Amino acid sequence: MSQLEVLMTPAQREEFTRWVQNVSLTILKCRDQQHDFPDWDDHKRNKVRRQRNGSFVIRAACKRKCGVVRNRFVGTDGYLTRSNKLSMDYSQAMPANRDPLKGYLMPDGARTHGGGFTREQRALIRLEIIARLGEWITDEDDDG
Ligand SMILES: [Zn+2]
Repeated sequence: MSQLEVLMTPAQREEFTRWVQNVSLTILKCRDQQHDFPDWDDHKRNKVRRQRNGSFVIRAACKRKCGVVRNRFVGTDGYLTRSNKLSMDYSQAMPANRDPLKGYLMPDGARTHGGGFTREQRALIRLEIIARLGEWITDEDDDG
């Protein structure tokens, strides 16, 4: 373990584990890998809007339907607008009942000061995915 590793307190670990066990597989996949955003030319899933100043906003929801929406801002010259190159909109990444154990963002009680996931949190996410896919997993010496 490196010196930079941020450790969870037991309470954070408990809260994080509860969250990991309750969120959808979709959210776990997006958390383990990356979101799956549509291509530019995916007219159904991408909204490209020209703003009054001529720049563009490209808004697309993750194809896995985790609820996260990405906004890209492209200037008239094609450069990504410096002020706001990219923004993620998490406002829809919550179930209707606002249950924090089902939402895309981990509950406050599971957050460490580093902000992002710790290595242990990433490991716990992978373990949970493996647990849920258990019936698909074969042993090395299985012939089937
Ligand atoms: Zn996603």
